Amino acid sequence: MTPLLELTDVRRSYPSGDGDVEVLKGISLTINAGEMVAIMGASGSGKSTLMNILGCLDKPTSGSYRIAGVDVGKLDADALASLRREHFGFIFQRYHLLAHLTAEQNVEVPAIYAGLPQQARRRRALELLTRLGLENRVDYRPGQLSGGQQQRVSIARALMNGGQVILADEPTGALDSHSGEEVMETLRQLCARGHTVVIVTHDPQIAAQAQRVIEIRDGEIIRQSAPGEGVLSVVNIERHAPPASSWRQALSRFREAFAMAGLAMAANKMRTLLTMLGIIIGIASVVSIVVVGDAAKQLVLEDIRAIGTNTIDIYPGKDFGDDDPGFQQALKYDDMQAIAQQPWVSSATPSVSKNVRVRYGNIDAAASANGVSSQYFNVYGMTFSEGGTFNDRQLQGQSQVVVLDSNTKKQLFPNKLKVVGEVILVGSIPATVIGVAEEKQSMFGSSKILRVWLPYTTMTSRVAGQNWLNSITVRVKDGYDSHTAEQQLNRLLELRHGKKDFFTYNMDGLLKTAENTTRTLQLFLTLVAVISLVVGGIGVMNIMLVSVTERTREIGIRMAVGARAGDVLQQFLIEAVMVCLVGGALGMGLSMMIAFILQLFLPGWQIGLSPLALLTAFMCSTLTGVIFGWLPARNAARLSPVDALSRE
Ligand code: ADP
Ligand code: MG
Repeated sequence: MTPLLELTDVRRSYPSGDGDVEVLKGISLTINAGEMVAIMGASGSGKSTLMNILGCLDKPTSGSYRIAGVDVGKLDADALASLRREHFGFIFQRYHLLAHLTAEQNVEVPAIYAGLPQQARRRRALELLTRLGLENRVDYRPGQLSGGQQQRVSIARALMNGGQVILADEPTGALDSHSGEEVMETLRQLCARGHTVVIVTHDPQIAAQAQRVIEIRDGEIIRQSAPGEGVLSVVNIERHAPPASSWRQALSRFREAFAMAGLAMAANKMRTLLTMLGIIIGIASVVSIVVVGDAAKQLVLEDIRAIGTNTIDIYPGKDFGDDDPGFQQALKYDDMQAIAQQPWVSSATPSVSKNVRVRYGNIDAAASANGVSSQYFNVYGMTFSEGGTFNDRQLQGQSQVVVLDSNTKKQLFPNKLKVVGEVILVGSIPATVIGVAEEKQSMFGSSKILRVWLPYTTMTSRVAGQNWLNSITVRVKDGYDSHTAEQQLNRLLELRHGKKDFFTYNMDGLLKTAENTTRTLQLFLTLVAVISLVVGGIGVMNIMLVSVTERTREIGIRMAVGARAGDVLQQFLIEAVMVCLVGGALGMGLSMMIAFILQLFLPGWQIGLSPLALLTAFMCSTLTGVIFGWLPARNAARLSPVDALSRE
């Protein structure tokens, strides 16, 4: 018969000062299935060290340890975790229950890592607690239970996954004699049911209750009776329901990690909130900048588009400011007609302007009179608050009609609401007001000049007395590249004039410049926002690192009952991501508020939470969680179970 547990010349030493101190000095022992063995020795003799090796929490420095014939030294961390989970049940002197979980939840923990479905888990936990007489204490937290009750909860936990081998390290050490008796009685019953029970104790009376006593002193076995023969050759321990399939297991473990992360966050509300603050501010600034920046950009671009991006202005001369008299008269009415006939031109409107005085009654003011075509207002996206533009007949007939801008209306008619039909003097000619045009409100502000518009025919013949045009504005058909149009326009006019005595100006350039400027600005602001997000992330990392240190014992307990390193990593990562996601959601809320308030003060701004902003926030918070949670989570997962357990 292969012994269940077999140690051969096991040594364990700890580094201390200059050299190593050997705590176990060549322990050899065998324990058969179904035995109840007591390991007895004085305090400091190495009992717990031995127990940790038996329970695969620790590895011997040298020597071999076989479980049912399998050499433990050759197993990796996950296989050891699986051994602890499936075969061992630990009972500690100080119970080692998780303080923020109820009795029932504590008992469930090993089964979570085994991937048992929730209902089966709960049923079995209740059954075990009932069997141990704790049916009325199921929802109590460890702090609300007596020592004896806590120890019974930890026994239930040890049995959760079967607990083929129960390892009890001074199980009665912290209990009064009555509770101690009860615990010992329970352990004896378990042995009778087929569990192998190993008890560590310094108390000879407790040891006497076992079938066999192994006595150690200073890391050496000084006395042991022969392994019990014929106690039990077959392990007939009740098995709980078979674990679910592997992906279901993974899913259920993930869900549990989620729930545990939630519990851990709830247990430290204030700290969680403060941690989140960094993320909230970070996400709020990222989202606000994306959203508000987008709105501002749209606004600027729209303003420029309203002026007309597909319009090309043609002026006489070489460039703005050129007043060479030889070029002044370069643009003629014929030029405009030739341009208007081009297939890619949607409309062309001339402009003849002159500074004149306008007069109504005894009020008189300086204004710029512009001769334009009726399409002018359309091209520049202007609306009429009153009246309208002139028609073709008025244009052909050189009618003496005039459109005012709102500044002129205010100046000439300070007390009149309706001015259409009034006759004013433009320069020396009388003209009837037919409309009041409103300039489109733009971010650049509206000009304070007074402007009036007349049919260009009227303007050339009657007001300015000139037969040349000051400028031509060409509107390019939609879908036609304005750059190509500009080239063709240049070629056409050069051909007509025989020389280049004009220049063109295209709003497209301005649009591109504006686009670039806003993009640069947005990039810069985003950088600032990202920095605040990084600061928030570092805050999360800080708190998570503290949390890992603070919860080292919890991690040790989880590992002792069978959590893999991956489970611990996952739990802490999920916690970090959850902090960041909740913070991200709150940050989104905050940025929505900012957007709402901005909208109150800046009408006209189209602030909307785009899917892009939502996605950005989600990605940013998840990434922050993963990036800054990873280091603490890895630290937690790398802890060795014994070290973690012994930390207070
Ligand atoms: P027992 O459980 O029998 O009281 P332990 O097995 O806990 O004794 O410890 C035995 C000896 O090993 C003690 O002298 C203790 O100081 C030493 N020891 C235990 N753990 C460590 C450790 N992690 N590092 C250094 N020495 C240790
Ligand atoms: Mg001990």
